[in-house]
Amino acid sequence: MICQKMLELGKNKSQMRELFEYGLAQAAVVGKENVFDFSIGNPSVPPPDAVGDAFVEVLNEPPLKTHGYTPAVGCDEARDAVAKHLSKLLGRKFSRRNIYITCGAAAAVMASLKGLCIDHETEFIVFAPYFPEYRCYVESAGAILKVVPADTDDFQINFDALEKAISPHTQGVIVNTPNNPTGAVYKKDVLMRLGDLLRAKSKEYGHTIYIISDEPYRELVYDNIEVAFVPDYYEDTIVCYSYSKTLSLPGDRIGYMCVPDTMHDFDEVCWATAGAARAMGYVCAPAIMQKVIARCADVPANLAVYAHNRKLLYEGLTNMGYDCVYPDGAFYLFVRAPWGTAKEFCACAKKLNVLIVPGDDFGCPTHFRTSYCVNPDTIERALPLFEQLIANAPDGSDKV
Ligand code: PLP
Repeated sequence: MICQKMLELGKNKSQMRELFEYGLAQAAVVGKENVFDFSIGNPSVPPPDAVGDAFVEVLNEPPLKTHGYTPAVGCDEARDAVAKHLSKLLGRKFSRRNIYITCGAAAAVMASLKGLCIDHETEFIVFAPYFPEYRCYVESAGAILKVVPADTDDFQINFDALEKAISPHTQGVIVNTPNNPTGAVYKKDVLMRLGDLLRAKSKEYGHTIYIISDEPYRELVYDNIEVAFVPDYYEDTIVCYSYSKTLSLPGDRIGYMCVPDTMHDFDEVCWATAGAARAMGYVCAPAIMQKVIARCADVPANLAVYAHNRKLLYEGLTNMGYDCVYPDGAFYLFVRAPWGTAKEFCACAKKLNVLIVPGDDFGCPTHFRTSYCVNPDTIERALPLFEQLIANAPDGSDKV
C-alpha cells in the first residue's frame, strides 16, 4: 500500500506545469519560436549583475565554509542582512530573531500552515482567484481549504463572503498581494478592514486567526504603486517572501519567513513554524544562496521588461475586446474568456500553440491567466493569434 493522497498529487500535475511541459515537447516538433508559452511564472530577465558577482565571491570562499550545513533558521549573515533591509524599507525595527531563511516562498507558506494547523478540522481561507498550490499546501498540512469567491470587478476582497467563510475552526487567512494570477495589489483600506474583521473574529472565537502573507511579488509593482506591508495592518501576520521572482532565482530556492515582534504568541509561532520545517525535512536553505542573499538583500528587481510587456499585452488584448483588470503588480494578466468557458477557450488557444492557463484551478473558471514574463517578441507575434481566437467563437458558444 502507498499513500493515495500523495499518489494523486504526484500523478496529477498542476495545469500550469502540464502546459509548460507540453510547450517544451511541442517546441521540439514545431520549433521553439512557434510556441507562445504564457503558462508559468518563470522570470524572463536574468538576475541582476550584483547577484552574479556575489555568486563568484561566495564560490571563492573556503569550500568548507560555503557548502556546510547552516543552522536550520539560516546563517547569521543572511538573517542580519534581511532584517537590516526590512528595517530600512519599512521604517520598523527587525532583527535576526524575526527571520527564518527558507527554500523560497513555497517552503515558508508550507511551514506556516503546518505550524498553525491544530487538527483535521482546522481551516485556512483563501481568496479566489488564488495560487493553485495553496490547495496542495493546506491539505498536506492536514487542514481544510475554504475559498472566498472572487470579486471580479477589481479583485480586491469580497468581505461579505469572507465574513460568512470564517468559522470557529478558522486558523488563518492566506493573503497574496501583489497577486498571482490577477496582478492586483490590495489597497490600504482593504487591509485595514481585513485587520479589523480578523481582530473582531479572533476575539469572538477566543483564539488568534493568523494572516499568512505570501509575498513573492512584493517588489514587482509598476507606476510607483506602494505595496502596503500587511503586518502594519494586522499584528498576527507571518510574512513569506521569496527571491524567485524579484531577483530571478526560482531554481535556487531561497526566501524567508518573517515573524514580526507584534505577533502575540511570538515565541510559540516561531517554534511551531521551525518545528514544522523540521518535520518536513527542510534541514536548511542552500548555504551558497544564503551567502548570496547576505550580499544582495538590497538589490532592486529589474522591472523594465515586465513594465513594457504589461502595457503591450494589456493594450493589445483590450483593444481587441478582451476584458481584464490592468494589473498593478506581478507579471500576469487575468483575462475574462471572451466566449465559452475558459477551459474551452484555452483548449482552442493550445491548438494554435498559444499556452494560457484556464482559471479553474485558481478558483475562477470564467478567466484565464497569461504570464507576461516572456520575451516581448513572443507577445508581439502572439497578438494576431489572440485576435484570431476572439473572432473564432465556435458555433453555439456563448459570447461574453
Ligand atoms: N506563492 C505564489 C503566489 C507564487 O506565485 C509562487 C510561485 O509562482 C510561490 C508562492 C512559490 O514561490 P517560490 O519559488 O518562492 O517557492
